[in-house]
Amino acid sequence: MDIESKLFQLGESARFDLCNSRKERESNFSYLIHPAVLPGGGCINLLKVLYTNECSGECFYCANYCNLPKKRLSFIPDELARLFLSFYQQGFVKGLFLSSGLGINPNQTQQEMIDTVEILRKKFLFRGYIHLKILPGVKEDLIIRGLDLADRVSINLEAPSEKRLKMLSRRKVNYDDLLGKISFIKNTIERRYLKKDQTTQLVIGASEESDKEVLTRTYNLYQDFLLKRVYYSAFKPLPSTPFSDKEATPLIREVRLYQADFLLREYNFHLKDILFDSGDTLNKEIDPKLMYARLHPEIYPVEINKADYFSLLKVPGIGPKSAKRIIENRRKNNYKSTVELKNTGAVLKRALPFITLNGKILEKLNEDTNQLKMEWREAM
Ligand code: SF4
Repeated sequence: MDIESKLFQLGESARFDLCNSRKERESNFSYLIHPAVLPGGGCINLLKVLYTNECSGECFYCANYCNLPKKRLSFIPDELARLFLSFYQQGFVKGLFLSSGLGINPNQTQQEMIDTVEILRKKFLFRGYIHLKILPGVKEDLIIRGLDLADRVSINLEAPSEKRLKMLSRRKVNYDDLLGKISFIKNTIERRYLKKDQTTQLVIGASEESDKEVLTRTYNLYQDFLLKRVYYSAFKPLPSTPFSDKEATPLIREVRLYQADFLLREYNFHLKDILFDSGDTLNKEIDPKLMYARLHPEIYPVEINKADYFSLLKVPGIGPKSAKRIIENRRKNNYKSTVELKNTGAVLKRALPFITLNGKILEKLNEDTNQLKMEWREAM
């Protein structure tokens, strides 16, 4: 098979791995090129590809499920490094996201992935962004080599617990071992003062896990393992896989999880601030921040000209950037009108019922907060 066909097939299979991708660009290479937000901000196009779609793993939802009748392909390191370089030199991409199936031997596959990155760094002197997938169960010295070469690494947990992971896969996986490797990466980054980070990915809705289970794991990953991001991938059934008859997860579930995740990661919310119903699910109609605000009338309205940063962050429609701008601008002059507030980037439509300006209430909440409170307290 020619290299181009290989690239298209292994690029197509890589789309199930998430890497901070934004909307895909329309082009002949849209399978392969993914605009992604970088850890320090800014957005670049990444070539996203699998090293191999061969996999000894038996994950019931996966496009690379080992019993699927599909052609198994693999790059060799020099070939993939040159391919990437030609994309880079033609200006299609500025970075690489390299993932992979396990291959026949995960250590061997990881070794070859690292060799690819090493060729790029040392032979072709590529200094741009590389996100390298770490395969489950690989040796720690390979992880260290990967960390030396890549900007970001990730191990996919796929599920919030061992019990849930077993429902997704026949593969022998030791969940504690996965967490152990994540911890090893964290410790290596800290010990060696590396300017690198790690992320992970969870499949949502394939193992009957609740939103609360997912976000409890997420909170633990942010607090104890210092992960940069957790990505959520709403389950979609693929033909011929053991889960082909399972219902797809509604996208709104993924959206609500990302919103709650954002609160935990950027807004200083504690897990106990996220409200779940009796089935441990997030509300599909109302986003988690608005839900929190409606159920905590005791902390609102917040006075725009006096509130501290964290109180401002609790206001729907005010995010970290607008909260910082409000505080900076306030040092010079107190806010006098909502027009001035709008210039901070705050979404006034959402914020007005929860703030006062110089003591003045700007808009009354029209929903029946007490009723909502009663219903959710009963459900919880
Ligand atoms: S280990 Fe599982 S999820 Fe990963 S590529 Fe193999 S079958 Fe797919």
